[in-house]
Amino acid sequence: MAEGGISAAVIGGGIGGLSAALSLLGAGLDVHVYEQASEISEVGAGIQVSPNASRILHGLGLAEELAAMGVQPLAWHQRRWDDGRTLLRTPLGNRMVEAFGCPHYQTHRADLVSALLDAMPAHCVHVGHRLVGLTERDSRVDATFANGARANVDLLVGAAGIHSTTREVLLGPQSAHFTGCVAYRGLVPAELLRHLELEVTSEVWMGPGGHFVRYFVQSERLVNFVAIVEEDTWTRESWTDRGEIADALAAFEGWHPQVRSILQAVDETFVWALHDRLPLESWTRGQVTLLGDACHAMLPFMAQGAAQAIEDGATLAACLAGCERAEIPDALRRYESVRRPRATRLQELSAANKIRFHLPDGPEQEQRDAEMAGGSTDWSINAVAWLYGHDARLLPEQASAA
Ligand SMILES: Cc1cc2nc3c(=O)[nH]c(=O)nc-3n(C[C@H](O)[C@H](O)[C@H](O)COP(=O)(O)OP(=O)(O)OC[C@H]3O[C@@H](n4cnc5c(N)ncnc54)[C@H](O)[C@@H]3O)c2cc1C
Repeated sequence: MAEGGISAAVIGGGIGGLSAALSLLGAGLDVHVYEQASEISEVGAGIQVSPNASRILHGLGLAEELAAMGVQPLAWHQRRWDDGRTLLRTPLGNRMVEAFGCPHYQTHRADLVSALLDAMPAHCVHVGHRLVGLTERDSRVDATFANGARANVDLLVGAAGIHSTTREVLLGPQSAHFTGCVAYRGLVPAELLRHLELEVTSEVWMGPGGHFVRYFVQSERLVNFVAIVEEDTWTRESWTDRGEIADALAAFEGWHPQVRSILQAVDETFVWALHDRLPLESWTRGQVTLLGDACHAMLPFMAQGAAQAIEDGATLAACLAGCERAEIPDALRRYESVRRPRATRLQELSAANKIRFHLPDGPEQEQRDAEMAGGSTDWSINAVAWLYGHDARLLPEQASAA
C-alpha cells in the first residue's frame, strides 16, 4: 500500500459511484464521493439486483439490508402479450442461491441507494458538488466544481451516468443515442391489485413492438412496472417526464387484462426516453477512468446496467489493491481491459433483446417461443450462468486459481 493511501475522487453518487466508493474504501483507498444534487436520492421505481451484483453487495456488508429490503421472486415468468400463455418459467428464489451462491433481489431504488449511502462514512460524501472541469498534472488530478470547491487527488473515477462530464473531458462530446423505446414506469400499492392474485414472480409479457415487466418490491407492499413501447422520436426536452396513464393504456390496447389492470391502477406514471451509447474505444486516460452508465449505458432489457456498474467498482478495487501511486495508470488500463469486453457484450445483448422481445406475431416469434420453451435462450438458469456466476471481485488469474 502506498504511504498515506491513494486518494480517489468518485464523481457521481448513484448506484455505480456509491458502490465503487465502498469497494475502493475496502481496498484501502482514501475515497470521497462528489454528487451534483443537493441530496442523494433515486427515482421512485424498482430495480433488479441479480446474483452477480448481490454477491458484491454482500461482500460490502449489505447482506442484512438487502434481505430486509429485497423481494426474492419465485420465478421468472415470460408470457405472451394477448392470451398470457407461458413462454418460459424459470424457478428463482432458492434455486438462484443454490446455483450461484447469492439471491436475486428486486428492490426499490431509493432503499438500495440509502443502504449504500448509510454504509459510507458521512464525511466522505459531498453533495451539491457538480464537476465542471478536470486537469491532470504531475500524476495528480485537479477537479473543479461549480460551487468553487476543488479536489486534488491521485485518481478520479467518473461515475456520473449517461451525461458524464468526465467522459466528455476524456473523449470529447458525443450525444447519447435514442434507442427508439420509451418506458412508462410506476409503482402500485399491492392491495389495489389483490383481486389479480399476482404471484411473487418477475413477469415479462412480450408483444408486438413492446413489452411489460412487473415485480414486487418493499416486502411485497408495492408492485413495480415498466411498460416499454417503441416510438420513432423523442421530441421532449427532458429525457424523463410525467406520463399520461391514458397514453400508456393506448399503447397497450388489446393486451391481456392483467397488464391493463396494473396500468389502470397506477396514480402517476413517468415516461422515460431510453438512450444508450455505442461501446466506447477507451474508458481510461492516465489517472482518470469511468464506470457505470458513464462508459457503458445500455438498454435495460437484461436488467444489468446497475449490476455492471457495481461489478466495475469491484474490479477497479481489485486492480488498485496494493498498488503504489506510480502504478495507477497500469491498474486503470488493467481494469478497463478486464471490464470492457463483458460490459460491451451486455450492451449488445440488451440491444438485441429489443428485437427479440418485440417481434410481431409470425414465424420469427414462433421460432423464438419454441427456443424459449426448450430453455436454450434468455433467462433459463443454464443460459445465465456466465452472467450470474461471475465474481467481479476476482481478477481473471485469481478466478482461475479459485
Ligand atoms: C427503465 C429502467 C429499468 C432499469 N432496470 C434495471 C435493473 O433492473 N437492474 C439493473 O442492474 N439496472 C437497471 N437499469 C439501469 C440502471 O438504472 C443504470 O444502469 C444505473 O442506475 C446507472 O448507475 P450510475 O451510477 O452509473 O449512473 P446514475 O444512476 O445516472 O448516477 C449518476 C449520478 O451522477 C450525478 N452526476 C451527474 N453529473 C454530475 C456532475 N457533473 N458532477 C457530480 N455528479 C454528477 C447524478 O446526479 C447521479 O446521481 C434500468 C434502467 C432503466 C431506464
